Amino acid sequence: MPIDFTALATLGVRQLSPYQPGKPIEELERELGIDVAIKLASNENPWGPGRRVIEVLRGGLESIRLYPDGNAYALKKALARRHDVEPQCITLGNGSNDVLDLIARAFLNPDREAVYSEHAFAVYPIVTQAVGAGAKVAPALDAGHPMAFGHDLEAMSAMINARTQAVFIANPNNPTGTWLEHDALRAFVGSIPKHILVVVDEAYFEYVKAPGYPNTIDWLKHYPNLIVTRTFSKVYALAGLRIGYGISDPVVAEMLNRVRQPFNVNSLAQQAALAALNDEGHVLRSVELNLGGMERLRTAFDERQLRYIPSVGNFICVDMGRLALPVYQGLLSHGVIVRPVANYGFPNHLRITVGTQEQIQYLLHALDRVLRL
Ligand SMILES: *Cc1c(COP(=O)(O)O)cnc(C)c1O
Repeated sequence: MPIDFTALATLGVRQLSPYQPGKPIEELERELGIDVAIKLASNENPWGPGRRVIEVLRGGLESIRLYPDGNAYALKKALARRHDVEPQCITLGNGSNDVLDLIARAFLNPDREAVYSEHAFAVYPIVTQAVGAGAKVAPALDAGHPMAFGHDLEAMSAMINARTQAVFIANPNNPTGTWLEHDALRAFVGSIPKHILVVVDEAYFEYVKAPGYPNTIDWLKHYPNLIVTRTFSKVYALAGLRIGYGISDPVVAEMLNRVRQPFNVNSLAQQAALAALNDEGHVLRSVELNLGGMERLRTAFDERQLRYIPSVGNFICVDMGRLALPVYQGLLSHGVIVRPVANYGFPNHLRITVGTQEQIQYLLHALDRVLRL
């Protein structure tokens, strides 16, 4: 009898459904025998990194023989200055998902629970279950609410009990693009028992221009139980390098540091992140282009009478008015990769990243062909 290693995995891992990433461009090109697929499936910056970042990466190739600086001195110093915090408040991760995982490994266990919302980012259940912790999933705001499908902070509060050790909040959330405004989120953070960690995931922070959207890093001095996560994967266009960070009280950061792999962030990623951070013009341009692209998509969906969830990120969830999977497959056959979100509780929606004008035009053309079938 072969050994059943599935049965030997821990309970949490046995129950876990793995993260479903966007389909890689190369895979679709291989399948279709084409070489110009468009990927609008993972909320990457379609304009890529700035020229300076590419130069720094080229120059950095010589250094890959050496281990990276495990403490990332230069990058932490720059981030600390940018956010007006001490470098000891910063935890760098192999993507901000790594930081979420560190939080779970340092603070959750099978006797403890995490709270997060329905439709929330898929990594929260994964890191929670991977360490065998319990999950309390709060129902989201209903379809009739002005922030339909967004986090319901009251419902989340109601899930907190003596076992709760962490609350995960995505602001804005992926895949919905919904967000929480300053006063409501601040009141929520202030109302949480002080020993419970409140993780505010701000992966799309730089993109958000909605009035009232908070910069929660400013709140850290009042709330030592707050952890804010940010990433270089989205507007900074370094998704493939894997680098993100958390900002927290230094004692919390020290706990995360204890479980962190010593060299979790590679040297090229550190150098590129530093260069990207200093190229504010590139960020501003990317944000402007995103706002324009988002407007164009919304208009196009309105014209086609397709409903969507208003989003402040660089992506939008569109209701196809029928099961979305065949539409997804139809788009694939035209060389366009978007993201099905049935696993998030949206079987009729597709999540589409805001692309360049040409990509948007191509997407809409393909969508029209697919929907006419
Ligand atoms: C993309 C994303 C992240 C960032 O992931 P990385 O590991 O930094 O690439 C984190 N949170 C949310 C909600 C995201 O959509």
